[in-house]
Amino acid sequence: YAKHDPKFASRLFEPGMDERRLRSQKLAVALQLAIENDELNLVYQPIFRLDGGHIESLEALLRWHSAEHGHISPLEIIAVAEHHGLAHQLNQWVLLSACRQLKHWHQQGHGWLKVNVNISPEIFMSGELGSTVKTVLQRTGLPASALVLEITEDTSLWDTAGSIDNLARLRQLGVEIALDDFGTGYSSFSHLRQLPVNKLKIDKSFVSDLTTDSRAADLVHTIIRLAESLDMEVTAEGIELPEQQQHLQRLGCQLGQGYLLARPLPASQVADWLQQDLQRYTPAG
Ligand code: C2E
Ligand code: MG
Ligand code: MG
Ligand code: MG
Repeated sequence: YAKHDPKFASRLFEPGMDERRLRSQKLAVALQLAIENDELNLVYQPIFRLDGGHIESLEALLRWHSAEHGHISPLEIIAVAEHHGLAHQLNQWVLLSACRQLKHWHQQGHGWLKVNVNISPEIFMSGELGSTVKTVLQRTGLPASALVLEITEDTSLWDTAGSIDNLARLRQLGVEIALDDFGTGYSSFSHLRQLPVNKLKIDKSFVSDLTTDSRAADLVHTIIRLAESLDMEVTAEGIELPEQQQHLQRLGCQLGQGYLLARPLPASQVADWLQQDLQRYTPAG
């Protein structure tokens, strides 16, 4: 078995580990330059109200095509940034870019729109996020209520009392907080009740099993009811099939995201979707 176990293999081959370290170092140098020269990109995946199909928000997702290293996945970018002390700088770039873009859409007549920004655990734990968020809101003139911070559940965030204070301070600024990839981490129900969080995003692994695995369906049902009782809104991520969307709606899930509804789009293409949205719906307020 040993030779089919990738972890075992990587432990065995020291040279492979050195190569990885070298790649990480090279990427860090390239990433720093990319941040400074504005060579990173954000794409935006719409989050829809499942009943009616109105666009509620756009999730900003990081993209980087490096001239030297080719396409680098966001998870690798984040890992490199965290390992080489670039996380804060990267986070500032993402937050400011996403908020500037949203401000632009607000000015185009889509003033109800929100933006979801992913925040890595390291940034969240650092306690600097509050001042970064405040600065970005001031610089862009966006209302705090237009910003949703996504924090993955799969961290040890909830081990320290400081994390809950951090969350509470962020909520006091008026931003919303969503627990991302919900169901894959280890928040207990009692934790969840203590957390100043107002949205849950059901992990796409549950959504993909929803119509074929009754246990996944039961779990999703439970999460939706739990969220209801805690007064949180639920978003299902990774909707790829019409039957998944229908099932989620029957279970009372309010918001949805996935390739079936819309792929992550460059900002220029989002404008077309927003225009259609505007023609079909009268924005509330
Ligand atoms: P996430 O926040 O859970 O984002 C959802 C991921 O699922 C995205 O992958 C998205 O492109 C993908 N996705 C959307 N709809 C579907 C679908 O129907 N089916 C499938 N199979 N996938 C779908 P992406 O863009 O590769 O991002 C991966 C992860 O990287 C994100 O997961 C997030 O944790 C992280 N990430 C992305 N951008 C940022 C960022 O700016 N900052 C931080 N800290 N993390 C980021
Ligand atoms: Mg996310
Ligand atoms: Mg997610
Ligand atoms: Mg994820």
